[in-house]
Amino acid sequence: MPIATVNPATGETLKTFEALAPDEIERRVAAAAAAFRHHRTRDFAERARLLRRAADLLEEDGDDIARTMTLEMGKPLAAARAEAAKCVKAMRWYAEHAEALLADEHPPADAVADSGASAVRVHHRPLGPVLAVMPWNFPLWQVVRFAAPALMAGNVGLLKHASNVPQTALYLEDLFRRAGYPEGCFQTLLIGSGAVESVLRDPRVAAATLTGSEPAGRSVASVAGDEIKKTVLELGGSDPYVVMPSADLARAVRTAVTARVQNNGQSCIAAKRFIVHTDVYETFLERFTARMDGLTVGDPLDEATDVGPLATEQGRADVEELVDDAVRLGAVPRCGGGRPALPGKLAGGWFYEPTVLSDITPEMRIHREEAFGPVATVYRVADLDEAVSVANDSPFGLSSNVWTRDEDEQRRFVRDLEAGGVFFNGMTASHPAFPFGGVKRSGYGRELSGQGIREFCNVTTVWYG
Ligand code: NDP
Repeated sequence: MPIATVNPATGETLKTFEALAPDEIERRVAAAAAAFRHHRTRDFAERARLLRRAADLLEEDGDDIARTMTLEMGKPLAAARAEAAKCVKAMRWYAEHAEALLADEHPPADAVADSGASAVRVHHRPLGPVLAVMPWNFPLWQVVRFAAPALMAGNVGLLKHASNVPQTALYLEDLFRRAGYPEGCFQTLLIGSGAVESVLRDPRVAAATLTGSEPAGRSVASVAGDEIKKTVLELGGSDPYVVMPSADLARAVRTAVTARVQNNGQSCIAAKRFIVHTDVYETFLERFTARMDGLTVGDPLDEATDVGPLATEQGRADVEELVDDAVRLGAVPRCGGGRPALPGKLAGGWFYEPTVLSDITPEMRIHREEAFGPVATVYRVADLDEAVSVANDSPFGLSSNVWTRDEDEQRRFVRDLEAGGVFFNGMTASHPAFPFGGVKRSGYGRELSGQGIREFCNVTTVWYG
């Protein structure tokens, strides 16, 4: 994939970039290692001062960087602004809380005495330069979600961003530089995916985090495994959205639409499989389809647009293949199912209609694969047991959404759903204070919260005789 900004709303190439030469990659890895030697010794107050400054600058830049993101990957402008604001919030949250999250731990006194020590403390020390391989779908947030805790823990960052968001990638490096971080603390490597392995194998690189597809995750994790380096993987999902009879149906329908089409349907935590109790199935399906069908598809720079283009031509082809396969095997398209006819330059963009498919069966690829676009599959289930069984019948396990006001049912779902999150009567959303991540093929490890900041720490037992 060339490193370039190609406007997905028109298909026009706006700017191309050269990949870094090997000697420049070497210079940057060396700078990261040198920067780490100092950054690890900065106290929390100094780290927080730098991160707060970055947050302030990002807040000022919000409108400009939102526009860049929209031009690079096609999300509606309002969503891009909201993403920038969310990054500001996460930076401030970690600036304020990192010290407490990484405070020394004191094992119980009887255990300390039993070990023969006069005192024992557990410290959280940084690991070193961390390589972040990041996707284009939330091109600021995915990076800040890693960088804010990593920098507060005393690590330094090397970003290999997706090849279709180079301007956002370069903006991030510039942001941290302008905030006052010394050279080497946060660098963008404009490299293709083929150059990741040698960076990851470099002894100066301590660990890696990757958000993206399963093949990319497998590749990075196997190299890291070979090098015995820690990884955190966030590999997408096909989150269930269960609607039980006690649901507030009006809200459940409204939220379902947002949960499915947020970010033009390209979010790992988007609800993708709608699993509806038979008592409310017909009503839900009818109202949900009407709302999906009524969405405005168009130019993401236009404030009236609900759903913009898919980020890449390949991404649209993947979605088309999944829908066509399902329809061939008997799925019923309730709305959408094709490319919209748009005027002018938009005719060259990678748009896909908001689509609802019912009558899904396990033979269909869409039953098991992630639909990374505005396509919803709807299932009818007879009871809670069947809802859980359909929800868990997926290789993924990122998050889940359940609409029920029945507390016994809530306890059952919490006990039985195979996912890293269970959101009742609302849709999954990340927050800096809550752990984020999945099980099964959605990956491992956690981002955000105390769990996230400790992933890239050397948890050190200090024993005093
Ligand atoms: P990828 O997983 O290919 O891209 C994500 C990042 O990984 C990019 O920086 C990419 O670089 C890099 N990468 C890709 N392959 C390798 C590799 N073998 N070794 C090292 N780095 C690699 O995602 P796509 O854009 O191709 O999307 C494909 C599918 O992945 C989507 O349809 C969706 O299902 C899933 N996905 C999930 C996301 C999530 O939020 N969890 C985000 C994006 C995609 P480069 O751009 O240079 O190829």
